[in-house]
Amino acid sequence: IGSGQVLPEQPDLKIIRREINGFVGFANLPKQWHRKSIRRGFSLNLLCVSQRGLGKSTLINTLFNRNLDDGSKNKVEQKLEGLKIEGSSETEASRDDEEAQTAQESENVRSSVKIKTLSTTIEENGVSLKLSVVDTPGFGDAIDNSDSWRPIVDEVNYRFDQYLDAENKINRSSEDDNRIHACLYFIEPTAHYLKPLDLGFCKQIHEKCNLIPVIAKSDILTEEEIAVFKRRIRKQLEDENVVLFEPPQYALDDQETIHASKSLYEKIPFAVVGSTDKVENSKGSLVRGRSYPWGIIEVDNASHCDFVYLRDLLISQYLEELRERTNSVLYEKYRSEKLTKLGIKQDNAVFKEFDPETKQKEEKQLHEAKLAKLEAEMKSVFHQKVSEKEKKLQKSEAELFARHKEMKEKLNKQLKALEEKKHQLEHSLNTPIPQSPAQPKKKGFLR
Ligand code: GDP
Repeated sequence: IGSGQVLPEQPDLKIIRREINGFVGFANLPKQWHRKSIRRGFSLNLLCVSQRGLGKSTLINTLFNRNLDDGSKNKVEQKLEGLKIEGSSETEASRDDEEAQTAQESENVRSSVKIKTLSTTIEENGVSLKLSVVDTPGFGDAIDNSDSWRPIVDEVNYRFDQYLDAENKINRSSEDDNRIHACLYFIEPTAHYLKPLDLGFCKQIHEKCNLIPVIAKSDILTEEEIAVFKRRIRKQLEDENVVLFEPPQYALDDQETIHASKSLYEKIPFAVVGSTDKVENSKGSLVRGRSYPWGIIEVDNASHCDFVYLRDLLISQYLEELRERTNSVLYEKYRSEKLTKLGIKQDNAVFKEFDPETKQKEEKQLHEAKLAKLEAEMKSVFHQKVSEKEKKLQKSEAELFARHKEMKEKLNKQLKALEEKKHQLEHSLNTPIPQSPAQPKKKGFLR
């Protein structure tokens, strides 16, 4: 307009201008979400894999600040390669001898890894957490541990399958999520390198669950040893393309949050120390830690060990992210691979049945095929009948021809015979009758 340009004529548009001056209410949505979350509670299914005696039970108890092995309150479920036992830990004790024997028997043949799930609900400031700790006693205990990972990976897959089945049910419950949300893998504090057992397991599990490796009992290593050991572990895992759980960074995150999540990731594998025992620190306060002649190690002190970072990652900061990644990345991958594997079966049996358009097409094709078949059958019957008729006609024609021939021959014969007779007669007529001597007249007889 400014440059004197003439605009094309506009149609009569009625612009209704309304000011949004009232409160719509969606600013309250986070509050709704908060209330709902509190009501529903949270859940975490944690897989713990470690060789015997690396401080796994102690660390779990330290993480959740209670003795989770206290069977009277918790539900324990044991699985021994297909043998599934459910019930409280009170009954578990009486079965222990039997199970030990069964385990011993199976140990001779296969890997001795058992799956033991411990479920409990813990509460903190009115927020409840349904916690399931999946323990794997026997991991790395056999002489040949090359397939120690197998029962554990089977368990993770089994839980994915259970979820997949539940998703397909009409009355599905999203509350029943038994999928493993994180895997804590305990590395022996050797200060050398990861063993083939460690690498083998990490390679098998990292695409199935959020892998968080920890250096167990790190209080027996010096700070320098820990730093070198961590670098070696990271290098070894990187070389094998093992993906560890990384706290996600979002576009809306501020620099501080981004920095915090990055530095948390760089600290993996966390060098942890576990203890629920209280010791007196230099300030005279009672803290959780381990006491040595040379001093104390405080579990909850970030300058003593990485325990607080592990707790941040696993519970206080990223629990929902662990669940989210389990659902949208790991389970999705498993699900799509599984469905692709079942592809042919689904095409034929399941999907078409539920897709009305495909079903209609299929029915139309079927109907057309039926008609075509019917037509082909009719044609073939027609051809058959025609050829039968033709054959009959040909046969009767041949018979007629033969009869005609026979008759003709007969007639010819008769004709010949007649002609012969005629000839004979003519011949006899033409032949003069010889004069015989006069017969004497008989007397009295002539007048
Ligand atoms: P698990 O067999 O892996 O469950 O190991 P436990 O938790 O039963 O611990 C085995 C032993 O290691 C116990 O004597 C614990 O007191 C000890 N322990 C556990 N955690 C630590 C730790 O962080 N540092 C040290 N030095 N010892 C620990």
